[in-house]
Amino acid sequence: MFRSLILAAAGSERVERLVEAAPLSRNVVRRFIAGDYAADALRVTRELVNQGLAVSIDHLGEDTTTPAQAEAIREEYLDLLSALAAAELTPQAEVSLKLSALGQAFDEKLAYEHARAICAKATEAGTTVTIDAEEHTTTDSTLEILARLRRDFPTTGAVVQSYLRRAEADCRDLAGAGSRVRLCKGAYKEPESVAYQSKLDVDKSYIRCLNILLAGDGYPMIATHDPRLIEIGENRSKWYDRNSDEFEFQMLYGVRPDEQLRLVALGYTVRVYVPYGTQWYQYMMRRLAERPANVAFFLRALRSTK
Ligand SMILES: Cc1cc2nc3c(=O)[nH]c(=O)nc-3n(C[C@H](O)[C@H](O)[C@H](O)COP(=O)(O)OP(=O)(O)OC[C@H]3O[C@@H](n4cnc5c(N)ncnc54)[C@H](O)[C@@H]3O)c2cc1C
Repeated sequence: MFRSLILAAAGSERVERLVEAAPLSRNVVRRFIAGDYAADALRVTRELVNQGLAVSIDHLGEDTTTPAQAEAIREEYLDLLSALAAAELTPQAEVSLKLSALGQAFDEKLAYEHARAICAKATEAGTTVTIDAEEHTTTDSTLEILARLRRDFPTTGAVVQSYLRRAEADCRDLAGAGSRVRLCKGAYKEPESVAYQSKLDVDKSYIRCLNILLAGDGYPMIATHDPRLIEIGENRSKWYDRNSDEFEFQMLYGVRPDEQLRLVALGYTVRVYVPYGTQWYQYMMRRLAERPANVAFFLRALRSTK
């Protein structure tokens, strides 16, 4: 109920205008977002890499509606990859990409071509790209584009959302040799016809998917902050004889930083997803929907700016 309300607000332009106009302390947004510019993402990446963490940088923005916007996003990623290489932050830092930002909704071919250019640049820069998962209506198109990208750039990462009823089948398709697959619970509001609705069902699906990926020949990327699932991930990785360089944990910037460092100290690879850019509204609302405590933090900070 709480999650549905916040996710409904995430889609409302009226609420978006209200929240963006509120006297938001920069600290609230800065807890989850590196800053407005690529230079901010680079600064945060450098700090995280110095602590032994790996990074995936995401330029915020989704639901692009014009070819000009899609082209601007492509250019942003190409510049970001050049800057990462120049700062010698590759291969520890890669990029995450939303195909909706590249025009997938109105021209799949255009989105593919832009994603291809970004993958080519990432290869030149000595790093990788992971294609984020978005609403279920885009899953088939995203996986098709991913398969095409992987013909030339086999390290391109996929994302599976365990709340989708199709998740296990997708994991089986994606568990082949060399295949990088991020497993997350899923962050969007989805109907019961396609997605499990209860936390228990989503978690059980997550564990079934984890088993498929760990038993396979690919490179599983266990993206969660859930203590129980992290513990299961640690145990199952041993059960499946995975060395610490044969899978990784992933978490979001600003969420459970102590846990990120605890896992690094144990010798695991932990990659932090670092978003930057001015279009933070939808990303922030998804984070609030995940955790009531985040809403309290958000409201407290709003009050303290008045
Ligand atoms: C690296 C990464 C990439 C992602 N990419 C995608 C994507 O491409 N597509 C997509 O749909 N979703 C993506 N997500 C989001 C994901 O789907 C979930 O919405 C998000 O991770 C929350 O789920 P959770 O597994 O952390 O568990 P939740 O069920 O949200 O939380 C479980 C438990 O984790 C702990 N916890 C969670 N948050 C906190 C916190 N802030 N502080 C302390 N404890 C906390 C609490 O104990 C909580 O009970 C990504 C997540 C990560 C980490």
